[in-house]
Amino acid sequence: VTAYVCTACGATQPIDGRVWRCGCGGLLDLPDIAPRPFVVDGSQWSLWRYRAALASFPTSDIWKAVSLGEGMTPLVPEPPDQYLKVDFLMPTLSFKDRGSAVLVAKAAEMGVARLVADSSGNAGTSIAAYAARAGIAAEVFVPAATSPAKVAQLRAHGATVRQVGGSRRDAADEAMARVEASGDFYASHVYNPLFHQGTKTFAYEIWEQLGGQAPGTVVVPAGNGTLLLGAARGFAELVAAGAAVRVPRLIAVQAARCAPAAAAWRGAAPTASWGSSVAEGIAIAHPGRLAQMLAAVEGSGGAFVTVDDAEILDGRRVLAGRGLGVEPTAAVAWAAWRSWPGAAQAPRPVVVALTGAGLKTTG
Ligand SMILES: [Zn+2]
Repeated sequence: VTAYVCTACGATQPIDGRVWRCGCGGLLDLPDIAPRPFVVDGSQWSLWRYRAALASFPTSDIWKAVSLGEGMTPLVPEPPDQYLKVDFLMPTLSFKDRGSAVLVAKAAEMGVARLVADSSGNAGTSIAAYAARAGIAAEVFVPAATSPAKVAQLRAHGATVRQVGGSRRDAADEAMARVEASGDFYASHVYNPLFHQGTKTFAYEIWEQLGGQAPGTVVVPAGNGTLLLGAARGFAELVAAGAAVRVPRLIAVQAARCAPAAAAWRGAAPTASWGSSVAEGIAIAHPGRLAQMLAAVEGSGGAFVTVDDAEILDGRRVLAGRGLGVEPTAAVAWAAWRSWPGAAQAPRPVVVALTGAGLKTTG
């Protein structure tokens, strides 16, 4: 695969460091690939064991210098027929490392010297860490309200931090303006299709850990849909490659206080009044890939589910009581699964994603 495809007009664009959206303004994507037979490189104990399935990889061995050993996270049984995918056991303690590792490795291969990102949290930290590893200068735009601890973490990895007044969206707008003016690489976990090439390894790992089969149901938190879209793509590719029978039902969970995708899925009129949530990592009022998120859930026969903040914090307490310390954003999938009326009818086995470590937040 050597070209992006525009999701709006269908035009193709060569995979190039400066391209992050179509000339028509549309979002870019990479086509699904389905290698037959599906090849796992058992000599690699990281997500790079699946690199034969990464679009545009491998064209060199540069990933070996960029990798921090990400992937191969535990799948912990939660009897009778449930599993917790402990995807926060990653170099920067969030699943975002899947996307960052692949995105930054490709950027390094393309000879990128400077990258720009925007994030208020785990994605920015992850991109900054991998950029440091790859010797790429990183400039990260964050909302001014971002916690001092997170800003310190970004700076520790050598990133230049730009604090922007206003909302999360204002920080993204500033980053895009910077990219347009400078020609720097836009390491966006929303726009850049290479990021989803990394998050799709979430699906491959679960498939391999279950003995070469897809689970019946997968429950993930959803804000910008980074994990949802990666999982949907990964399972679809496994089915297309003949390695799995069907795509699991994808249950995408949003915080009730900020649930634009769940509202759109129900057919509710768009609202401008979304608020904040203890699940700060998924409190995204304007997800850039909303249409794709809806299509992924719909196509799997799944559902969008919402949970309120009290349920999220309760779910977090229950998980901690089972030995698993997660941040509130990472507790939403388990919280929803515990209380969702449709859970009893959902196909087994069920895999619930735990995406960010408890140390990411205080309190
Ligand atoms: Zn286009």
